[in-house]
Amino acid sequence: MNDWIPVYQAAHSLEAHTLKGALESRGMAVKLQGEALAGALGELPMDVAQVTLLVQEKDWQRARTFLQDYQRKSQGTWHCGSCGEENDASFEICWRCGSGPEGPEQ
Ligand SMILES: [Zn+2]
Repeated sequence: MNDWIPVYQAAHSLEAHTLKGALESRGMAVKLQGEALAGALGELPMDVAQVTLLVQEKDWQRARTFLQDYQRKSQGTWHCGSCGEENDASFEICWRCGSGPEGPEQ
């Protein structure tokens, strides 16, 4: 009956919650997987904890369509690998912490 199917892997907890809210506002139930680990790790940067969005089988196609649309719209932006901030494509480094898309230079 209630089969939860992975539909999207969010880069970090913030994105997961944003998308969860968007799907729920469209009447779909959403579960997040991986967030408990993020909470347990606590001190580590957000980006180590990828969060998987799960939806029920009956909602999967709708959720997938919505998420593909979301990804298309957000193609012009990238998420900082260091602080998780969303940056416009015109920025080569994170406006917030100065890191590149792959994280801070070593
Ligand atoms: Zn950053």
